[in-house]
Amino acid sequence: MKEVVTEFTEELAANGGSSAALCFQCGTCTLKCPSAGLRTALRPANIMRASQLGLKDEAIEDYGLWQCTTCYTCVEWCPRNVQVVDVITALRNMAVADGEMYENHKKVAESLIKNGHTVDNNDKIKALRKSLGLQENPDTVLDDEKAKADFDRILKATKFTELVNQ
Ligand code: SF4
Ligand code: SF4
Repeated sequence: MKEVVTEFTEELAANGGSSAALCFQCGTCTLKCPSAGLRTALRPANIMRASQLGLKDEAIEDYGLWQCTTCYTCVEWCPRNVQVVDVITALRNMAVADGEMYENHKKVAESLIKNGHTVDNNDKIKALRKSLGLQENPDTVLDDEKAKADFDRILKATKFTELVNQ
């Protein structure tokens, strides 16, 4: 049985996802989404429906939530001007606050904390850089004193590290 959480729509709106309420389920977003179809489990129209009905678990635990590339195709096509990406971002933030983060997103976030950028530098890229006469590891935000101080301040203000490591 699907549980309706009455405060959920307000919580979602407070996180920037209020426009889910405007969705009239035409399905255009799912049809046009380059990440949906046979490629992934993402069905943005389903996520909008669960969101506007207050089905918190269904919306937040939707695996497809993490398959959105934030390309904004759905937003461009939506006849109701639903800000689908804002809704998905809000749901992801709420999922993370509840201790749920898709594994690959977690890896990206961990790399940002550890290396100062989101993509891990592997041996293949290091060798390629070396062959081009470049240093194996490019400079990142961590290599500049002021930039690192700003970076640390942002991590602290957003509780980013705690959220990723919880
Ligand atoms: S295109 Fe807009 S109105 Fe249509 S289902 Fe998607 S979000 Fe809802
Ligand atoms: S922003 Fe996300 S949901 Fe919208 S079309 Fe792109 S991948 Fe699909």
